[in-house]
Amino acid sequence: MEKISRRNFVKNAIRVSSGVAVLGGFLPLPGFRVYRDNTIDDVKVYIPMPIQVVIDDVGWWSGEDGSKKQEPFRTGINRKHVPADYQAIANLGRALGIRPQAAFILCEWDKENILRNLPTSTWMGEKWDNSKWVGPWMEEAAEIIRNNKNYFELTIHGIGHEYWEGGTFTRAEWTDSKGQMRPQKQVELHIEYFEKLMMQHNLGPLPESFVPCAFRHSFGPSDGRETSLAEILAKRGIRYINTPFGIMYNKERVQYGLFGFDNDIMTIDRGSDEFQWLVFPANPSAILSGPTCGLHWPNMLHPDPDRNQETVEKWVNYLKPYNEKKDMMLAPDSVAFQNQLAHHQLTKMQLTGNSMSLDFSETDKLPYKTGNSELILKILTDKPHQFIPEGITLLSQSLLESNQLLYTVKLRRDIRKKNARIIIS
Ligand SMILES: [Zn+2]
Repeated sequence: MEKISRRNFVKNAIRVSSGVAVLGGFLPLPGFRVYRDNTIDDVKVYIPMPIQVVIDDVGWWSGEDGSKKQEPFRTGINRKHVPADYQAIANLGRALGIRPQAAFILCEWDKENILRNLPTSTWMGEKWDNSKWVGPWMEEAAEIIRNNKNYFELTIHGIGHEYWEGGTFTRAEWTDSKGQMRPQKQVELHIEYFEKLMMQHNLGPLPESFVPCAFRHSFGPSDGRETSLAEILAKRGIRYINTPFGIMYNKERVQYGLFGFDNDIMTIDRGSDEFQWLVFPANPSAILSGPTCGLHWPNMLHPDPDRNQETVEKWVNYLKPYNEKKDMMLAPDSVAFQNQLAHHQLTKMQLTGNSMSLDFSETDKLPYKTGNSELILKILTDKPHQFIPEGITLLSQSLLESNQLLYTVKLRRDIRKKNARIIIS
């Protein structure tokens, strides 16, 4: 969280092991304002809504939209994809101190043609031949992914994005356009082969997150299926699905507005993207109001890959100010994102006198210990204050000064306690 300061702001990031937080402003630094009045009626506290960046359709080498000839939609750009396009994602993550989710399609990474054994996954079926896309660029891109783990999160999207039967495809890979999940055996095989393709390139274990192709997805079991997609994914260790609720089937089953639990998998609303999938490049400006900043790979690239950074910088400049808002923040990674969103929606906070109380009773009803570890508060004040935690540990705090002071306070819960307090002095 220390990354939030801008050059023209005073930054006072202090790490404390536990107990009382010491605010640098109380030991006046040269040029720092000195406040005599220490009343606290100026304080406003927020549990900020986290924002996660999710980038779809990463992984293609061909940029061609093949949908007219029974090939996948791909990214629809007029050039091939190159390792620099992967580096662009890592650069975005590094500049913002986050792990953007790269939702991967992996068929064009198959260097052993194993997908011949899974004919529903590609347009060539049993005659699948990927030799034209096998080359040194694969290892180059894989190395970028492996070397930027803190700034790049590989997420399951699919193998071929659509679903092929008898040489023609229907949308989409996991669920059809009527909302029915593909046959369970096929779904299981597609996950298994996604993992095999990752192993061909040493891309790590199967991810814990998932973005359904073409956003065809049912929350809970779909008509005619006893098992939900989430239940099958959960068996393979997936813990989180991100998809727009607006077009999700059975969305009325969602329990908590911005998110729900489907067979204990947290499913989070993507909302609507500012750009269509084939806008290349894009220049973002729409105000984010939900927890996901969803985009497609071409939106953040440049027709000339050597100039990708120009587009990346537009996204960096667009997203950075969300860390400086009183009620929003950029989530550093998927796990922090899920936990913070749970707190944002369910943790109750009350400010009485100089005491801020936190009540985790509702949050603690969620499965998989969601919300049990760290959370972020933002505290907006007119003058400096100290924060003394009771029943919770203050891990760090940072300060952003403009016409008011905005503290970002990182806390770690004691999981035995449903309540905690912070005394403001
Ligand atoms: Zn997609």
